[in-house]
Amino acid sequence: MHKILIFFLSLFCFINGAFAYDLVLPKEKKTYVSTNYVFFVGKAKKHEHITINDESVYVAPNGAFAHTIKLKNGENRIFFRTNYNTHVYKVYKMPKPDPTKPVLEEFSPYRVIVNKDNTPLRNTPIDYGMNRISHLFEGTNLIVNGQKGDFYRVKLSKKEEGWISKSSVTKSDEGSFDPKYRTMKSETFKNCSVHTLEFSEKLPYTIEETGNEIFFKVYNPFLKEDSVYTVNIRKPEKYYYKTISSNGVYVFKVNELPYCDNNTLEGLTITVDAGHGGSEYGAVGCLGDNEKDINLSIANELKDILRQMGACVVMTRECDGFISLDDRVKMAKDNCSDIFVSIHLNSIPDIKFDVHKNRGTSVYYYNPNSKNLAKYVEESVTSAICTKKEGIKTASFAVIRPTDYLGILVENAYMTNPMDTMIYKSENFPRNTARGIAEGILNYVNSDK
Ligand SMILES: [Zn+2]
Repeated sequence: MHKILIFFLSLFCFINGAFAYDLVLPKEKKTYVSTNYVFFVGKAKKHEHITINDESVYVAPNGAFAHTIKLKNGENRIFFRTNYNTHVYKVYKMPKPDPTKPVLEEFSPYRVIVNKDNTPLRNTPIDYGMNRISHLFEGTNLIVNGQKGDFYRVKLSKKEEGWISKSSVTKSDEGSFDPKYRTMKSETFKNCSVHTLEFSEKLPYTIEETGNEIFFKVYNPFLKEDSVYTVNIRKPEKYYYKTISSNGVYVFKVNELPYCDNNTLEGLTITVDAGHGGSEYGAVGCLGDNEKDINLSIANELKDILRQMGACVVMTRECDGFISLDDRVKMAKDNCSDIFVSIHLNSIPDIKFDVHKNRGTSVYYYNPNSKNLAKYVEESVTSAICTKKEGIKTASFAVIRPTDYLGILVENAYMTNPMDTMIYKSENFPRNTARGIAEGILNYVNSDK
């Protein structure tokens, strides 16, 4: 009798304890964070009512739930209650040290040399994504005349300056330095134009865009008089461009997107990038699934649809495995891709975030020439999978930053939004999402014909 009682007691505890809910976040009952919020994300048992600190938590029909708690400094005791259980979570918010504000120090100008290719030149002395004004080549000669925090101030011309991280340049010991301008020329071909500016040494350059023009500028700050060499280029309707430098020769090539017959993508090369992979799981959803797997299933469907539409498709991965961001970009460039589509699902940032309002599809771009592609893809994906339009946004993601192709990153749905879990867990989600992305690309390519 005693044993039977213990058995039923254990069974009761087991059912009400282990199966009441599966919590994806937080992972431990006691955690130390420096974030402003803690997120409770998981799956509840059927008919389970959940409260967190006495606030009722919405549970989607498939059991998915998500909730945020704002943290105060120090210990936060959070009471997580289900029908029969109360669990206490202790989250300790560690205060962030107050960053000391760097001050500008000016000094006599001297020459530095850029250590490696693709070094960002920024318009402010902070490491923030969207403040890049150029990506400099290894061996570029610069004049620095001030410093602020981890950055040197770079003199470009009398009116223009930039900022470069101290660790990405080396001081030059050589004395006199006198780079010379040699020549400038432009050639126009069927689908591209090529512009060449030649100097005796490697110098800094920037690219600016207005409504209908691109300005390719090379600066010679080593001259006393104003020394900006500018090529004005008419902007094609749909274009991307690349800059190549060998010693002091700068070649700037503007490609027009190839023309496709109506309703095909023939002649286009598209890189399809399934985000994350291998040891990099990406976001984890309320129901415990991994973003990398869903991204891959969409990417593989997209490959088939784009090929049926006539495109040449390059896949950054076709199975589960780790690939660096640099390798993803390299594959796209090596294959002369016209378009790069990175596929992701979204999760929660550490800002004031409403787990119920923040849902749906957003499409990111970095370079202005990719904005229209982002618009078309967002329109088409949201209508294909019935997600909320979260809008098109700019972000400095490494895979969409290069100018060598039109680049977008699609966050198809939020893995941490209970209603979005109903969408991305549906059987046809990968196929429908892929169809939405492909049709968005097709509509963009065929627009304004
Ligand atoms: Zn992702």
